[in-house]
Amino acid sequence: MAQDTQTESRKLLQRLRDALAEDSAGQERLDKITHLIATSMGTEVCSIYLFRDDETLELCATEGLNAAAVHQTRLRIGEGLVGRVAKASKVVNTDDAPSARGFRFMPETGEEIFSSFCGVPVQRLGDNLGVLVVQSKEKRTFSPDEVYALEVVAMVLAEMTELGAFVGEGAAMSARHQQSVMFRGGCAQEGAAEGHIWLHEPRVVVTNPVADDPEVELKRLSEAVDTLRVGVDKMLDGAGNGDKEQLQVLEAYRMFANSKGWMRRMEQDIAQGLSAEAAVEKEQNAARTRMEQVTDAYLRERLHDLDDLSNRLLRILTGQGAETGADMPADPVLVARNIGPGELLEYGRNLRGIVLEEGSVGSHAAIVARALAIPLVIHADRVTTEALNGDHVMIDGDQGIVHLRPDDTVVTAFRDKIAMEAKAQERYASIRDKPATTLDGETVHLTMNAGLMADLPSLANSGAEGVGLFRTELQFLVRNQMPRRTELAQLYSRVMDAADGKRVVFRTLDIGSDKVLPYMAPQDEPNPALGWRAVRVALDKPGVMRMQLQALLRAANGRPLTVMFPFIAQFDEYRAARAEMDKALARETILGHPLPASLEVGAMLETPSLGFAPKKFYEEVDFLSIGGNDLKQFFFAADRENERVRRRYDTLNVSFLTFLEGIVNRCVDTDTPLSFCGEDAGRPIEAVCLAAIGLRNLSMRPASIGPVKSLLRRVNLAELKAVIDQARTNGEQSVRPEVMAYLRSQS
Ligand code: PEP
Ligand code: MG
Repeated sequence: MAQDTQTESRKLLQRLRDALAEDSAGQERLDKITHLIATSMGTEVCSIYLFRDDETLELCATEGLNAAAVHQTRLRIGEGLVGRVAKASKVVNTDDAPSARGFRFMPETGEEIFSSFCGVPVQRLGDNLGVLVVQSKEKRTFSPDEVYALEVVAMVLAEMTELGAFVGEGAAMSARHQQSVMFRGGCAQEGAAEGHIWLHEPRVVVTNPVADDPEVELKRLSEAVDTLRVGVDKMLDGAGNGDKEQLQVLEAYRMFANSKGWMRRMEQDIAQGLSAEAAVEKEQNAARTRMEQVTDAYLRERLHDLDDLSNRLLRILTGQGAETGADMPADPVLVARNIGPGELLEYGRNLRGIVLEEGSVGSHAAIVARALAIPLVIHADRVTTEALNGDHVMIDGDQGIVHLRPDDTVVTAFRDKIAMEAKAQERYASIRDKPATTLDGETVHLTMNAGLMADLPSLANSGAEGVGLFRTELQFLVRNQMPRRTELAQLYSRVMDAADGKRVVFRTLDIGSDKVLPYMAPQDEPNPALGWRAVRVALDKPGVMRMQLQALLRAANGRPLTVMFPFIAQFDEYRAARAEMDKALARETILGHPLPASLEVGAMLETPSLGFAPKKFYEEVDFLSIGGNDLKQFFFAADRENERVRRRYDTLNVSFLTFLEGIVNRCVDTDTPLSFCGEDAGRPIEAVCLAAIGLRNLSMRPASIGPVKSLLRRVNLAELKAVIDQARTNGEQSVRPEVMAYLRSQS
């Protein structure tokens, strides 16, 4: 960047800082700022538009437009060029504003005489505050250096904490933090929790956005980055003897902490006149804007890593934040925009609950929260802005609801709910070592679903009889590179050790669709759920499956082994996958490695086609496991990830139950062991119905074992089957109402 532009920019920032520090009234100061910017940038116009509310921008100060338009001209987000800047959080730079897309003529401003327009967003920590605009009569496009300088100015402007006061928001803001607020988000891990807010990343206040001496700032930045790197290394060392998953995640941080591009951009910002912390924040804003715009899940996760590092760096530079500030409450409910799995593992089981502004059900953080059984609500819009450290909060993970600073009626109702849950937990604990035997003497075997080492302690706590589904892809998903065979073998061996002789059904890698490996090129498919996934990938590119099968055989090291292939849609896929297992066995024999004492090779039944596969298929497989999540989505043609259609079709729909019953009967005919491992197995009402139509093995989240067992032990399956049959005869769409009525009559 040209030296003189940098010097100009620094001078402007210093003048701005002086203007901000002056003891003049707010409006006067804002007017002075627009004057300073216009003069320094050599434009006739400089205007500041600020958000009045989420939807409307108001012209709050101007140099060059009609003064009478101030506080009169308003635009909706997306309206006109200014609205376009705000909506997309992107610069609009044009030499011919009236012809630009979206231009809207505001007659009261008198702006028709200005041809050139450059608008940049004013943002603070991802929050859109407004738009800063310069305009000139002369037809010219602003140079990249000028646009950059304007962005730097916008950054300093954003630090004027009293900006909100110009549009009457200021007063509302302070009251806001005392009222009770309810957030309706999404449910990512069930359970109810009460506690006090612990902000994962309390907002760091940058009080000195402008610096006098770039050399000093560069030194501060470089020292802070060194401290950051040491910190990340320490975290890595700390994790070294612990969890592999945590280690992998932290390695990604290390990569970012050493990123040259990130450092270079911050150094440029400092050269423009920003202080080190303002430079960090400017790049953080840019990353957040990108984060909102990228749809690729992997990229979003990486940008989130960068966001997290920026926060750490800001805390180091300002001495504010978690390390130095508030004490963590004894009953912390963590609130964050988003959180990485590594950070969540660091907090561990201390947390009572988690509330995120972003996140997704399939995110790595959600996987960890589930493994730790911590209630998690996602998509709680604006919770990080509303919540303050120490605020009282109640979260309902079942409904995805958060009550912040709840009033007394909510508190009473909520505590009743928690007390009921605690009672139920006691009841579950009392039957933990008892079988799930029904009143008419049928025993249903309950196993758990797992995927991380962190899941394994639940095997003993929940009373599960084994692991009915070990989703091996989770190990691949939480890493940044393909795991090696020896690593996998060690991990599987530890899983078998932890299971202590109980059966573990290892499902081979099930990737594709919503499960995208960070280090594999994503496939651009029109219908990923119907696309190249699971065993289809494994058979087309067998390298990874071969490595995985070998790792499993090595891990078993002479112990019994159970392996299951996902997403088998026709007989020859099973045969081909089984042939891979036979080859792996032959290879191990040649190498002189011990073979498993016994080996079972099964298939997941997740496509309706397999329900109608030849009898020989049923005879050949060692066992089948119904993946109800996928099976249901294909049976009803309703995407399991699409909230609009997902709940439309009930599992207890007569067609689906009858289809499942047909599968059960075929398995009885052919003597094929059968289980059900989709999420529905963990829902008590669904589970008893599955048992009623003949399923005797159900695999579910560990937390579901207690409730499912409890209901099974109180039900008469033959009677329930009669209720289901009657509902079918009656031509009902779903058997649920009759089943519910029957169960209620029994309690
Ligand atoms: C299923 O589809 O039901 C299943 C258990 O597999 P996943 O949820 O991992 O796709
Ligand atoms: Mg599946």
